[in-house]
Amino acid sequence: MTGYRPGPPAHEAIRRYWLDISPWRQQLVVHLGGNEPCCFACQLGFDSWTHTERAHLIAHAHGGPSTPDNLVLLCALCHATMDVLFGHPTCPPELKLTWIAHHPGWYATRLPHWKAAIGQLDERSYQAQVAATQGIDPT
Ligand SMILES: [Zn+2]
Repeated sequence: MTGYRPGPPAHEAIRRYWLDISPWRQQLVVHLGGNEPCCFACQLGFDSWTHTERAHLIAHAHGGPSTPDNLVLLCALCHATMDVLFGHPTCPPELKLTWIAHHPGWYATRLPHWKAAIGQLDERSYQAQVAATQGIDPT
């Protein structure tokens, strides 16, 4: 008899489990701030939940089931990062969840600062070039 192997649950079932049912609901919902499709960890936004990746908390290769309570929705970068940071077979799933729950707004909080820093650099180098062409010391 060939075993019946169901496919992974739909993204919607995973979203519903983590944001409506799971014991981690409070920690996740607060930092996700609503029901806009996004990476559970960094909040990177998507057009649809189906564009997020289904990441195993206990790896499939280590016997982790493909059930909503063992799958989280992440962007490709957070999925890869989580697997690298917490990929050891003995790593408890709670450690991954703690990382996810304390990872809010990673891009949202840092990107504006980076953009501002880059903008200032550009503005400074532009002014330096202008000053140089006019024979003025910009300092
Ligand atoms: Zn992410």
